[in-house]
Amino acid sequence: MAKIIDKRYRGRVPDDLDTLVQLPGVGRKTANCVLVYAFEQPAIPVDIHVHRISNRLGLVDTKTPEETEQELMIKIKKKYWLEINDTFVMYGQNICKPISPMCGVCKIKKHCKFFKSKNASL
Ligand code: SF4
Repeated sequence: MAKIIDKRYRGRVPDDLDTLVQLPGVGRKTANCVLVYAFEQPAIPVDIHVHRISNRLGLVDTKTPEETEQELMIKIKKKYWLEINDTFVMYGQNICKPISPMCGVCKIKKHCKFFKSKNASL
């Protein structure tokens, strides 16, 4: 990767999505991470945490991280994009875990589709 960046881009990491995803092994999530964390450009890196929490909350109703990214870009104001990945990853690792989410202590449960549906069926 370093050789490619050195040769093709004169040693500078590209700062646009279309160019980044042409690099070997770089998908949209990684490219968006580079934009957000290296260049502070508004983008929404959707990993498994962002995908899961967005669906649980009911922000989106999607099957893949790519679909989630597209939906979130429509529904969330651009000024919040930089914070989404970091916030959701931290929340997904600590509260809204993949298995057994800690809904009892979750501060946003009253806004959560998953929580409402779980309690409606009790
Ligand atoms: S209420 Fe539960 S499922 Fe919903 S966001 Fe909180 S932890 Fe996740």
